[in-house]
Amino acid sequence: MTAQIETHEFQAEARQLLQLMVHSIYSNKDIFLRELVSNASDALDKLRLETFRDKDLADAGGIDIDDLHIDLEVDRVARTLTVRDNGIGMSRDEVVGLIGTIAKSGTGELIKQLREAKNSANVDLIGQFGVGFYSAFMVADTVTLVTRKAGRSEVTRWSSDGSGTYTVETLDDADAPVGTAITLHLKPEDAEDQLHDYTAESVLRDLVRRYSDFVTWPIRLRTEKTED
Ligand code: ADP
Ligand code: MG
Repeated sequence: MTAQIETHEFQAEARQLLQLMVHSIYSNKDIFLRELVSNASDALDKLRLETFRDKDLADAGGIDIDDLHIDLEVDRVARTLTVRDNGIGMSRDEVVGLIGTIAKSGTGELIKQLREAKNSANVDLIGQFGVGFYSAFMVADTVTLVTRKAGRSEVTRWSSDGSGTYTVETLDDADAPVGTAITLHLKPEDAEDQLHDYTAESVLRDLVRRYSDFVTWPIRLRTEKTED
């Protein structure tokens, strides 16, 4: 089977919001990690709940309900950061519906407020309005998401550079684990800035401690060591 890559346009409000993220005017772009970790945590909660309701789900999908976790994986050479969870995952339709659109009311007002906002306190609006995922574009040139929903064989890959469009394809990968991996191709300019080098273990550790302390699932940091 050849995977067909489809290109979709972001819905208008999503596009406006993304534009604000890409040209991030905020001092506090660090919060992207909180948003992605909190989505991962929600996905783990949902999977646990779902396996309570559907006893066969875990068995059928090879899910180890006692080993739910979030991994932060760094590739220093490629300058990528991956946030991976083995949670509920998404179907292809869900990826398109949830990530490509903003169904929530109040988004127009949020965009207006963000345009006016210049200080970091206002950045919390991003989280409150639930546009968390898009905050990845404050630190990444390209964001790629690969996901497989619990109980399904379909694997979906989504990718975007935060401009008007994104691509979706169905991957032919029977062995893909259930859950979601979001890979950020980090903006090169942040590499020079020690405090915002998101491939640095100390930076990630500090962000997790600062913003994701409330998360009850294990968060594992995986930075492979490479010689300089
Ligand atoms: P919110 O978390 O407030 O709903 P987000 O923009 O952070 O808004 O995420 C949008 C939606 O995308 C989530 O509600 C969820 O359905 C889906 N999603 C995002 N990340 C994940 C993930 N890691 N696993 C499963 N679903 C996810
Ligand atoms: Mg969220």
